[in-house]
Amino acid sequence: MARYGELFLKSEPVKRHFIGMLLRNIRKALGASGITCRYETPRGRILIYGDEAKKTAAIVSRIFGIVDVSICHRSTNSLQDLSEAALSLAKVRLSAGMSFAVRAKRQHKTGLTSQELGTEIGSWVFDHIPGLVVDLDTPDYEIFVEVRDFGGLVYDERIPGPGGLPWGTQGRVLVLLSAGIDSPVASWLSMKRGCEITHLYLDAGRWAGNDVTTAAIDNHRKLSFWCAGNPVSLVIGDSEELFDRMSELKIPPRYRCVICKRFMQKVAGRLMEHEGALAVVTGENLGQVASQTLANLGVIAEAVTAPVLRPLITYDKEETITIARRIGTFEKNPGDLACRAVPNMPATAAVLDEVHEIEQKMRIGEIVLCTCSKLKFVTALDGKIVEK
Ligand code: ATP
Ligand code: MG
Repeated sequence: MARYGELFLKSEPVKRHFIGMLLRNIRKALGASGITCRYETPRGRILIYGDEAKKTAAIVSRIFGIVDVSICHRSTNSLQDLSEAALSLAKVRLSAGMSFAVRAKRQHKTGLTSQELGTEIGSWVFDHIPGLVVDLDTPDYEIFVEVRDFGGLVYDERIPGPGGLPWGTQGRVLVLLSAGIDSPVASWLSMKRGCEITHLYLDAGRWAGNDVTTAAIDNHRKLSFWCAGNPVSLVIGDSEELFDRMSELKIPPRYRCVICKRFMQKVAGRLMEHEGALAVVTGENLGQVASQTLANLGVIAEAVTAPVLRPLITYDKEETITIARRIGTFEKNPGDLACRAVPNMPATAAVLDEVHEIEQKMRIGEIVLCTCSKLKFVTALDGKIVEK
């Protein structure tokens, strides 16, 4: 049984559409692992029937829009059947000295109340396993019982899902994906809010650390795991020329970071339409590095007219790292990711007029066009690179 969250708040037609997308995503993800199932969608729940319960639950608990997943015993609504189902679960997990509670909920307005139902089923378990203690506040073990029109559901675990909205309900974004920690989390958070993604990585060639491109492609690969069954594109653009030209023209080094970020936005802006994207996403954060001041973010934002989303703008680094660990993109030893172009003292308050002047001198438009004329593509599917 999978539960969804926020969809509850939607109007009936929108809810139907979103549940349809949710089912499509679940089917695709299970299909990618060779699992076929039967589905039912009673109010507020998705019931998935199949043989490989554990594997199915693990996959469904990674689907955006799902709040939690439980492997259930399906029974009739008779008190005897519900009690037997609860006891069969409890026997595996409970032993003398342990405390437990039964949490019952019922849809019917007649018969036992939810509380009476919990008490009855609890007594049955209590009488059949010696030495138990009932503790309704902080039990060692909980059994959940739901009595619905269609029958009873009995389970003892809620595997948390990511929440959010079904993948694909909010249109596509173009994510500036780097080798670092932040942008994969920004990409994942956009997917979590229902966006389809295209990744864009700019390869600075000899100006980038030795392991940067491999790490960026690996981030791309890992993120594709989160929309199983749907291929994800990574567009790779060459940005070596940008740094070469900044170096040749002796552009003040303190402006490099801002010009580099504006360049990425300009390339993204040009590719958006082709990729069918409605916004650009970055892993930028307020104040994390010298180049990410409010003043600089303003100068960077001016480079494009498209909306730029920065999901991590207010996150502390630790918060971002916690998510990165959870979603599997955190690398303890990421290798050589140091950018060779970063100056000792990046400008913290770039002046827009000066930036415009520099970009004109560099003929930045030409470099953007050149980058966009020789793109490479890498497709990832289900956590694997499938096409280069
Ligand atoms: P990250 O950990 O995501 O690299 P960061 O804190 O190191 O973030 P920067 O390197 O300044 O920050 O980059 C800010 C944002 O610019 C990144 O989050 C990412 O969205 C984008 N970005 C940085 N480098 C690249 C790149 N080589 N290709 C595409 N996007 C990039
Ligand atoms: Mg970075």
